[in-house]
Amino acid sequence: MLTIRQIALSRPGLARLANPVLPLARLAGMLYLTGPFRALEDLLAVLNEPVETTGISYDRPAALLHPYLDALRPFERIKNPQPPSRLIFGANLEPAEQFIALDSWISQNVLTRELEEINSLLCGPCGCTLCCTGPSAGQAQEFFEIPLAENETALFDLPEFADEKTRAATPDDEPSLLVNGAPFYANQAALYGWRNGWSMILPRGSRCPNLDGGTGGCRIYPDRPEVCRRPQIFPYMLDREPARDMEYQGRFLPAFVIRAKILAIWDCPYVKQFQDEIAGYAQLCGLEPIFKQNKA
Ligand code: SF4
Ligand code: SF4
Repeated sequence: MLTIRQIALSRPGLARLANPVLPLARLAGMLYLTGPFRALEDLLAVLNEPVETTGISYDRPAALLHPYLDALRPFERIKNPQPPSRLIFGANLEPAEQFIALDSWISQNVLTRELEEINSLLCGPCGCTLCCTGPSAGQAQEFFEIPLAENETALFDLPEFADEKTRAATPDDEPSLLVNGAPFYANQAALYGWRNGWSMILPRGSRCPNLDGGTGGCRIYPDRPEVCRRPQIFPYMLDREPARDMEYQGRFLPAFVIRAKILAIWDCPYVKQFQDEIAGYAQLCGLEPIFKQNKA
């Protein structure tokens, strides 16, 4: 349970949960597609009056949508057809109808951007470091993994292991990769180049080197890696489905399946505290909320 003070400090994040951008983004898409607008900017130039949709009032719709222009840009593909850049399937694994595919891709973009901000607003007041430390004594796992892009590894002052053996393995292999004669997770925190890409491994009792021992904050907060920006309410509008990737006219098209869900990780104190508000956010976005335990 969060304290009264922590709940009070969470108000800006809660206000964002109560007023999601996605319903407005969808309304803007319909106005753009049915109106005489060449580019989305032309629509925003006239969208200055308050609007209401799905029971939410948006006082300054153009200003609110402006940071989401890149996320909304795929709407322009309907007016300016372009070759496909991805494959989107419905939950029945049939190719999705064009508008549904477009809506799901844009929704994923909008939710990703908005939830990054909401998660930051809700995480700060918790004073929690669960995402930045290895398993504690009472937890079942031997290590936690933080996936990284290759260009993010330089952010961490840690030993690196990337050779033929690590490149042939994954952290979940049985038996585990041996490093210095012991399972990799029995060594100190380190960076590994696996078959599926880079990750930081935080063994039991360890912590990310960027976690400030004094303040409990992240020393590289503005530059933190992508994965650290996304805890612990996730857009799950689309699910990557590599088995359905395809070559099309000489190009590689990644495949996705529509899930239409918001996933929230139960381990996180603000997810536990604000379950109703997160479920309300999902419902306003027309999505199903799912709550899941991650770290046993
Ligand atoms: S980089 Fe920052 S946010 Fe990410 S795990 Fe380390 S301390 Fe936490
Ligand atoms: S578990 Fe939640 S509150 Fe704790 S560090 Fe992660 S996102 Fe923040």
